[in-house]
Amino acid sequence: MSGVSDVTEKRNIQKNYPQKKKRKTSDLSGNEQELQDIQLIPTINNMPRSMRCPCGGGQSCIVNRRWLCDWVHEDEVFRVLNIPLRVNCAQAYTEEQINSLTNFR
Ligand SMILES: [Zn+2]
Repeated sequence: MSGVSDVTEKRNIQKNYPQKKKRKTSDLSGNEQELQDIQLIPTINNMPRSMRCPCGGGQSCIVNRRWLCDWVHEDEVFRVLNIPLRVNCAQAYTEEQINSLTNFR
């Protein structure tokens, strides 16, 4: 049979049009990660005020150096000898501490 045009318009209605993937707060977790990174890196600026040394800080300040994970000579000596560490630069050395430091040099 001719003349019968079976015109079925193929409308390509894309029912399965890909939907935009919803970003599930991936940005937020990124920020949190960044914040954690900042907290993990100690700097003089993020040292709590209550921890700051009466000497005012500085490169040779034992409080600063401990906070920055720098090597502190006297701490190492005192630890080896099981002598209590000084809390900060303002604390006077005990006789035991002085002796240990002079012997270690
Ligand atoms: Zn200090």
